[in-house]
Amino acid sequence: MAKKDSLKEYRARRNFSRSPEPSGTHQNKRAKNPTFVIQKHDARNLHYDFRLQVNGVLKSWAVPKGPSTDPRVKRAAFPTEDHPLDYATFEGIISAGEYGGGTVMVWDLGTYKNLTGKNEKEIPIEKALENGHVSMRLDGKKLKGGYSLTRVAKGEEERWLLVKMRDEAADARRNPVSSEPNSALTGRSLEEIERDAKERRSRGAGVN
Ligand code: MN
Repeated sequence: MAKKDSLKEYRARRNFSRSPEPSGTHQNKRAKNPTFVIQKHDARNLHYDFRLQVNGVLKSWAVPKGPSTDPRVKRAAFPTEDHPLDYATFEGIISAGEYGGGTVMVWDLGTYKNLTGKNEKEIPIEKALENGHVSMRLDGKKLKGGYSLTRVAKGEEERWLLVKMRDEAADARRNPVSSEPNSALTGRSLEEIERDAKERRSRGAGVN
């Protein structure tokens, strides 16, 4: 699939006159320190969207239970459509009735380093994703150290597992999803993001 088409699905699903989300253009730049973001999304079901900057877009997975810092815990991750890079700092309300309707928070944000390799040779992230196995080191505000993403089912039911690697940042007792619930970007809770967005809307400051 041509790279320039990879945001087609993202755009097709949304009406940008009604949604405050970035319409997003493809940015063809190679990043030395690519972005990773985890967005907490209080939609029909609360979930966490795990995104990695790859080839100028954010490759995305919905992780219903969010990430764990316990290497024994495997979290199911379901691939979703590529998102534009500027989505990484989006917080706000997507109106009820629109695609993904609900509140979005930047739960964790930082950079990652691809650690995927074979025989001491790095496998480029694009190739690793194709192969169905990526390991990476996260340097976020909340999450640090190694994580792996592994595809365990293909096709309509495609499913991956997000697992913490055993390293100094592994911590079976931490459980940041419940102990660190607020935004890594603004410190706000879901309720505060909602309240702020509604206030802005009532002042006529646009859809966000
Ligand atoms: Mn989502």
